[in-house]
Amino acid sequence: MDLRLRLTIMRNFTKIFIMRIDIIAIFPEMFQGPFTESIIKRAVNKGIVDIQLHNLRDYSTDKHKKVDDYPFSAGAGMVMMIEPVDNCITHLKSQRDYDEVIYMSPDGELLNQPLCNRLSLKENLIILCGHYKGIDERIREHLVTMEVSIGDYVLSGGELGAAVLVDSLVRLIPGSIGDEESALSDSFQDGLVSPPVYTRPRNYKGWEVPEILLSGNDKLINDWKLEQSYLRTKERRPKMYEMLKKNV
Ligand code: SAH
Repeated sequence: MDLRLRLTIMRNFTKIFIMRIDIIAIFPEMFQGPFTESIIKRAVNKGIVDIQLHNLRDYSTDKHKKVDDYPFSAGAGMVMMIEPVDNCITHLKSQRDYDEVIYMSPDGELLNQPLCNRLSLKENLIILCGHYKGIDERIREHLVTMEVSIGDYVLSGGELGAAVLVDSLVRLIPGSIGDEESALSDSFQDGLVSPPVYTRPRNYKGWEVPEILLSGNDKLINDWKLEQSYLRTKERRPKMYEMLKKNV
């Protein structure tokens, strides 16, 4: 569903949209900070998103709470075992249906705004964070429904990637940002990057705000912003600009 349409429907809805996100990780404390400040904190407090952290070790049947083991093939690095992950996911699935079981992975689908928009429409998500050399491939084959990467580089663990993903989704949920329109006017929503923004003072050490923004003429200002967006997109995201031209 188109994001604008969803926002319109949500505004007219009496029931508040609640998104539930379950995160499975071996270092759940890493989310303290990203999830306890700013927009995510407010969204959690307002009850529009329910984020539950699960320590994978709690689902290990091993007496040492082991969650990783040596790889079958030779080579450095431990691999996350199937059983604790399966136990945790099975437990969660016994309580509700999930739209996706997402594994954070460097070779997953690259996170971009259209993907954020798509995932922000889901109601229940599981996000699995890997560590070490990664997770046993059979988890990916049998339990995971989708894989997301936050970029073509390697992190030490999935937690930071999951925090990025969650932030990008939560800010799209109606009610999390004061003015929902502001999330829609951000970069990438219309295949364009944002125009520059300015605040007071008008003149700082001789660095002036563009005259047009002070003109009070909304039409001229909006035209200028759009023009700036096009110019910046052409310069900074040439591939996106080409797509834009094709779609006009
Ligand atoms: N050996 C793997 C990298 C493992 S990194 C490889 O070469 O592909 C350990 C964990 O960090 C992964 O299991 C994944 O959950 C997470 N991770 C690393 N880079 C990531 C990225 N770019 N996006 C999302 N998650 C990532």
